[in-house]
Amino acid sequence: MSDGILVLNAGSSSIKFSLFVESSNGSPELRSRGQVEGIGTAPHFMAKGPDGSMLEEKRWEDPKAASHPVMLKYLIDWIEDHLGDATLIAAGHRVVHGGLKYTHPARVDLAMMMDLETLVPLAPLHQPHNLNTMKAVMEVHPELPQIACFDTSFHRSNPEIFQQFALPRDLTDAGVRRYGFHGLSYEYIAKSMPKLAPEMAQGKVVVMHLGSGASACGIDNGKSIASTMGFTALDGLVMGTRPGNMDPGVVLYLMQERNMEAKEIETLLYKQSGLKGVSGISNDMRDLLASDSPHAREAVDIFVARITREIGSLAAAMGGIDGLVFTAGIGEQSRPIRRMVCEKAAWLGVEIDLAANESNGLKISTPASKLPVYVIPTNEELMIAEHTLEVIAAS
Ligand code: ADP
Repeated sequence: MSDGILVLNAGSSSIKFSLFVESSNGSPELRSRGQVEGIGTAPHFMAKGPDGSMLEEKRWEDPKAASHPVMLKYLIDWIEDHLGDATLIAAGHRVVHGGLKYTHPARVDLAMMMDLETLVPLAPLHQPHNLNTMKAVMEVHPELPQIACFDTSFHRSNPEIFQQFALPRDLTDAGVRRYGFHGLSYEYIAKSMPKLAPEMAQGKVVVMHLGSGASACGIDNGKSIASTMGFTALDGLVMGTRPGNMDPGVVLYLMQERNMEAKEIETLLYKQSGLKGVSGISNDMRDLLASDSPHAREAVDIFVARITREIGSLAAAMGGIDGLVFTAGIGEQSRPIRRMVCEKAAWLGVEIDLAANESNGLKISTPASKLPVYVIPTNEELMIAEHTLEVIAAS
């Protein structure tokens, strides 16, 4: 009998899931993955095997019949039917914000849920859904242990000078500081480097997580030193619908001169800016690269320019740089973006191997390049499954 782990990543109207089963060597092996989308509107369940083959698809006619707990119950029943000879021993959650307290994955209990509730204002678009999913699991499967894995924990190794804003001390003490996100992805990359990129695994590496949310992180000898993301997931690089780094005076201007309410500004900054706002076309990099609109081109150019500036900033924070890694949707798939970033990083001695880049190779720099450049596909779900097994084993 082997152990099954359900990994959950909850968004506003969707829950992504992966089912892992512990293999004979103790490491989690993917059995299936999928999602429930359109919760509350047009619910749609989909599960695929590790090879991408469709295992099940179902739609519901009555959206009201498919609330969060109802969908979770359907998902857990489906998982239990597809465990084979394994037993479901825990659910592992991706939780966007763990504040300063949660520096490691930990078992969910009521005290933790109250702590996480206080962090909702810091991640309004993600944290409430993480919490709702924990509550729904508690409701439908009260005895199932739940483990929370935080996107902020990996960055708690950042030196204090990179965690503080230059604000009055009482605000810093109240938790207004730089937290950093995408930590599970960076942790996975740091863990993979000794095997996949051994020449720089102990060195100073800038990892670029370029998905619909995007950030970069300076990792020195496997530890996070600085990140482009800050107090919330709005800071840093240009993203699909978020502007990234921006003078906070813009927010004052919007309030004082444009009479915008906080909620309107939140929508502008989280949903209407970034690639979508600049291009006026799409938040999807594929659409922009395929478009001949000058605004699409400008959005791509700003995206690339911000990344290359931040490489310099992170290198300065680490006191040097020994390599680059691209990851997540755009980093793993977009050859033109990787080429543009590498060409703009030529001043660091980066020389891209165009053929390796075209074939999405693991190493995309030439042998003569002063810095090695790698493309490492991230796997946040596997990281969560590993942490969940560790926490269960230690408890
Ligand atoms: P998320 O950040 O939502 O977890 P991903 O890391 O999968 O998602 O990244 C999704 C983004 O990756 C999409 O918005 C899309 O812009 C981009 N993307 C995926 N494939 C490609 C591609 N071939 N070329 C350019 N961009 C791509």
